[in-house]
Amino acid sequence: MIAKSQKRVVGAFIAVIGALFTATASPAMGQSRSDRVIVVTLDGVRWREIFGGADRRLITGGDGGTADTAFTLARFWRGDLALRRRALFPFLWGTVVERGLLLGDSTRGSAVRVTNGMRFSYPGYNELFVGAPDDRVDSNDQVPNPNVSVLEWLQRRPAFAGSVEIFGSWDVFPSIFNVDRSGLPVNGHGLPFPTPTTERERMANQMTEWLPTHWRAARLDAPTMAGALEALRVRRPRILTVLLGETDEWAHERRYDLYLDAARRSDAFIQALWETAQSLPEYRGRTSLIIATDHGRGAGRDWTDHGREVPAAERIWMAIMGPAVTLTGVRADQPATQSQFAATIAKLVGEDWQSARVGVAPAVRISDERR
Ligand SMILES: [Zn+2]
Repeated sequence: MIAKSQKRVVGAFIAVIGALFTATASPAMGQSRSDRVIVVTLDGVRWREIFGGADRRLITGGDGGTADTAFTLARFWRGDLALRRRALFPFLWGTVVERGLLLGDSTRGSAVRVTNGMRFSYPGYNELFVGAPDDRVDSNDQVPNPNVSVLEWLQRRPAFAGSVEIFGSWDVFPSIFNVDRSGLPVNGHGLPFPTPTTERERMANQMTEWLPTHWRAARLDAPTMAGALEALRVRRPRILTVLLGETDEWAHERRYDLYLDAARRSDAFIQALWETAQSLPEYRGRTSLIIATDHGRGAGRDWTDHGREVPAAERIWMAIMGPAVTLTGVRADQPATQSQFAATIAKLVGEDWQSARVGVAPAVRISDERR
């Protein structure tokens, strides 16, 4: 009896291993499939911190406005560059750069440039998600965007209908994605769960009400993170977009310590999203991740600022990983623009935004394949 059941168990075990081997073997044979994407933006995070980690000159009470320099040095300052940037962005440097690509290192010929000339948020998000700059988009006012974003276009395609969700920390996002026209679900302010149905959702709403209200138009990122992570776990959209904002808010307040803290929490959240996705059958092995920012910031004492009068805010960065991404590491001699973000999102789910729209920038090159 024992021997027979053991034999059956061994047989089942071999069958499972065989199935697993078949499942994992196909991507290696060049049929890697990416039909889901997680899109994350970190508002106003400089390429300097992405590539260089914390800036020692700003861990000060003066230009940096850092409240507790000893604490901030202990958290984020390391003499060694590799250790320093990893202390700030452990998931980006430990996983994304290993498996995917990172663009934006101006010292290696791979600058990523904002082309809208305005270098602030609404024009930046418009350029990121539409794929081209637009002079008409020239304020952060809650004006419905005249342009169709790649997310609106994707949601109108049968494969993605009802499977696109957007979470942000700013009350202008419903206008940027023109929710009245697009019908896109955008949770950008207030409670993360407007109609809670579970205990987790009620608790997240309660926590949101207990958190401080610092800014008129932006909420803290924690409710945004809770809403997005729960959407991933429960509704499992094919395209999930998360637009985090605290980094920009703390920078404007000249609080370099809190800017770094927000950046570090953003990295931890992206890791949580990614690891949760990999634990779910709908996402495992077929999901890509793309990360960028809406604008850069000043390089010196004006690190707090961005806009038309701050040329350094033109420089940004972009990170991409997924089953179809074969270029890896910090890219050299691969310049790009903010406009290329939109077509790259589409490409990561097997769609062609550039062919669908006149004037849209091409996707970023993510593999060695020749077209
Ligand atoms: Zn700003």
